Amino acid sequence: MSKATSTAQAAAAAVDHSAHPLPSYLEADNLGPWGNYLQQVDRVIPHLGSLARWAETLKRPKRILIVDVPIHMDDGTVAHFEGYRVQHNVSRGPGKGGVRFHQDVTLSEVMALSAWMSVKNAAVNVPYGGAKGGIRVDPKKLSRGELERMTRRYTSEIGIIIGPNKDIPAPDVNTNDQIMAWMMDTYSMNTGSTSTGVVTGKPVDLGGSLGRREATGRGVFTVGVEAANHIGLEISGSRIAVQGFGNVGGVAGKLFAEAGARIVAVQDHGGTIYREAGLDVPSLLKHVEENGSVGGFPESEVIASDSFWDVECDILIPAALEQQINASNAGRIKARMIIEGANGPTTPAADDILQERNILVLPDVIANAGGVTVSYFEWVQDFSSFFWDEDEINARLVKIMKHAFAAVWAVSQDQKVSLRTATFIVACKRILHTRELRGLYP
Ligand code: NAD
Repeated sequence: MSKATSTAQAAAAAVDHSAHPLPSYLEADNLGPWGNYLQQVDRVIPHLGSLARWAETLKRPKRILIVDVPIHMDDGTVAHFEGYRVQHNVSRGPGKGGVRFHQDVTLSEVMALSAWMSVKNAAVNVPYGGAKGGIRVDPKKLSRGELERMTRRYTSEIGIIIGPNKDIPAPDVNTNDQIMAWMMDTYSMNTGSTSTGVVTGKPVDLGGSLGRREATGRGVFTVGVEAANHIGLEISGSRIAVQGFGNVGGVAGKLFAEAGARIVAVQDHGGTIYREAGLDVPSLLKHVEENGSVGGFPESEVIASDSFWDVECDILIPAALEQQINASNAGRIKARMIIEGANGPTTPAADDILQERNILVLPDVIANAGGVTVSYFEWVQDFSSFFWDEDEINARLVKIMKHAFAAVWAVSQDQKVSLRTATFIVACKRILHTRELRGLYP
């Protein structure tokens, strides 16, 4: 055993869990996304050297807020929704992470998503900690007025912990620039200021950034091309399957198609479609805009939703929800490379199967970091009230993504670990280094 390894193990062992029992909400539901995150952290601890003594920090969110969100419905009744905002870690800067509206949102999910934001923000070295929010609701069942009232009441409830220097929300699943505009307005009304910097992903006319809407998909494309070069995979002519065709999957699919790839299969909440010759992506995007789903798209074959995982392809892009790639389907995937557009789409058990099968996984914490990177640009532009053109934004985005990917690739080659563990090594060292520099208060 090397000296560095033994020091790290001794430091990790120094945390006595029996003396410091976990809070009750951390013990529950360890099979969910939070449990997956904890397993990912355990895999990185042996690589953290002396910083491992601070690793417990990574396993406990700094702050959890659960709020009741009551609103008047259009029919005169009052409905209550459950909302969350979790700040996982703010050692490196204010909390940063999206807000999700989905009927299956849970505290465990939001905790995991906030933790992955800490790791992601450190991986691309933007000066933020990690946070995430959500409301347990199916927004498709609300009228526009109900959606606005719910968004405003939620913003007001979490207003005590968010702010341009405290925690900055952004869009995630089922939230968009209009919802960010309502959040910005509500916070501004409550504070008597015009606080554009309190959220990112706003409309461009309200302090939003050019290129933000496309940024996550563009980042997925950028790191995908970099990784493809490393493994000798030609993008032009390659076959790609995409799960989730919203903000992330739709843009990534479009950019890969423009680079000459064939998008052979797409799955979303409303259907799974296939076309060996490649789907016409611009028409498909228009169809989704008009119909809300890929379901019913002409010039395609409908396949069973579970068959999506058997599709012959070179690249698979999960860009929907967590835990989609798990022990039950990882053995069937035909791709050479998986680019995680979604957060947490692959369970640790599936990671092991994929690694054994030599399928390269580009983890969420680097692959989908393009969105938060341009959110950072938006926040900087809001503070300086000086706005950049789209070419400048895209050039800066691509530079950061390529630089971050190169660093992670080098660690993975040097230490013979997966790209996920390599990204966690780079990011967790940065987080824990600031933890150590700041020290404990009091
Ligand atoms: P979105 O709401 O724009 O799109 C979500 C897509 O997932 C839709 O196509 C929807 O139909 C599909 N979907 C939902 N349930 C599904 C199911 N059960 N099976 C198959 N498909 C399903 O959301 P988005 O912003 O594109 O986010 C997608 C993923 O990317 C999420 O994991 C999110 O956390 C992650 N992400 C988003 C951003 C961002 O900037 N928007 C940044 C980083 C990561």
